[in-house]
Amino acid sequence: MKIFNTLTGRKEEFVPLEPGKVKMYVCGPTVYNLIHIGNARPMIVFDTVRRYLEYKGYEVNFVSNFTDVDDKIIKKAVEEGVDSAVVSRRYIEECQKDMAAMNVKPATVHPKATEEIEGMLELIETLIGKGHAYAAADGTVYFRTSSFKGYGKLSHKNLDELRSGFREIKVTGEEGKEDPSDFVLWKPKKEGEPYWESPWCQGRPGWHIECSAMSRKYLGEQIDIHGGGEDLVFPHHENEIAQSEAASGKEFAKYWMHNGFLNIDNKKMSKSLGNFFTVREIGERFDLQVLRFFMLSAHYRSPLNFSGELMESSKNGLERILNSVDRLRELREKAEEREASREEERLCRTVGELRTKYEEAMEDDFNTADAVSAVFEVVKLANSTAGQDSGREYVDYLIQTLETLCAILGINTQRKEESLDEEVEKLIAARQQARKEKNFALADQIRQKLLDMGIILEDTREGVKWKKA
Ligand code: AMP
Ligand code: ZN
Repeated sequence: MKIFNTLTGRKEEFVPLEPGKVKMYVCGPTVYNLIHIGNARPMIVFDTVRRYLEYKGYEVNFVSNFTDVDDKIIKKAVEEGVDSAVVSRRYIEECQKDMAAMNVKPATVHPKATEEIEGMLELIETLIGKGHAYAAADGTVYFRTSSFKGYGKLSHKNLDELRSGFREIKVTGEEGKEDPSDFVLWKPKKEGEPYWESPWCQGRPGWHIECSAMSRKYLGEQIDIHGGGEDLVFPHHENEIAQSEAASGKEFAKYWMHNGFLNIDNKKMSKSLGNFFTVREIGERFDLQVLRFFMLSAHYRSPLNFSGELMESSKNGLERILNSVDRLRELREKAEEREASREEERLCRTVGELRTKYEEAMEDDFNTADAVSAVFEVVKLANSTAGQDSGREYVDYLIQTLETLCAILGINTQRKEESLDEEVEKLIAARQQARKEKNFALADQIRQKLLDMGIILEDTREGVKWKKA
């Protein structure tokens, strides 16, 4: 199996530290809002990596954190007049709901920064003890980048370049730095902020230290795979390497994996441009399995463009797979209980070859795009060869293959029984969205679809109401 390693800039054979086991850490979201579809990409990508490794028989220990102390969380808490823990707890719960709807399995452990302060303090003390960190007069603790030889090795930058870049940026409160490229491990509290006691000052941790501390606590000093979005390469992951390796003297992570960015209508997704969707909003228009399927239709390292049209086409693609499995399940009920005929044996071998093709794609740096194509080839074969006179063994083999290959991608082939209410609510939300986007043709189409289902809409002061005709 080959993995593209950001550290070396090339694909490398995957050899775990310990045979049969994989230790994996993926940086999770900062919880101050509902997650957006960009945040969903690393969740879906690394959940799929994990599922494939498990399919290959590895025991995967998967850790992913929630950053629950941060400026944005504090700001939101101040706006709402509540404790910052109220905000972070609320959005962790909401995030877990979104993850479940996207079939992202819960990690082995989801540590929260505020519950891991002790480990961070210990790590900072170790770094100070070894001369890799220092406390300034105001109690801020900085990492001394010049003390760590490998600084810049992940992002392929050299320290001098970095220094000149940083010299331009003066951050208030960070006057105590020895060197412009040093970064904060611990900082003094500000009025009204959550804080913890420490040997240097009452304060809170810098962002980078949490991942080094949590990874060390739950996975040990060395791990196999560390993942996250490509924006995290610098400074976050570079700093994690510096902290972890300076403390342990060992290589921190063997393989560094980074997913490409999700764009909207070919533009960078950003709040200020207004081209921004939460997972929740997309969930009102589509089953979130469709979002997952859409994300996996591209290679994880490529940038991926999101649009309603592409989602519609993913929806149709997924529907084709699910319809095929539905049909096979029906055929199975009636199929004659017999072993495969000669011809069916030959077809089974072709299915087996497609399964190999799927595995080869996944083992080439998790090329899910090609793996999905292999699934479609199985569907095509199933649709054209399985019929009323097929034997049960053959039909079973097709069902089992499709179920397995879909499950690795986190696609459930068992249809959810959607109640009429849910379906109607979803269509109404989609119609509202279409009207907001001034796509009146689509809005009318949806109204007609609802009419065909016997649903009448009424626009009222409280919003759109519906009733059965
Ligand atoms: P954050 O909450 O900003 O720390 O982000 C959590 C995770 O989402 C990180 O791994 C980010 O790299 C990733 N991420 C944020 N925005 C995007 C995006 N537009 N496309 C892909 N990944 C993203
Ligand atoms: Zn991290």
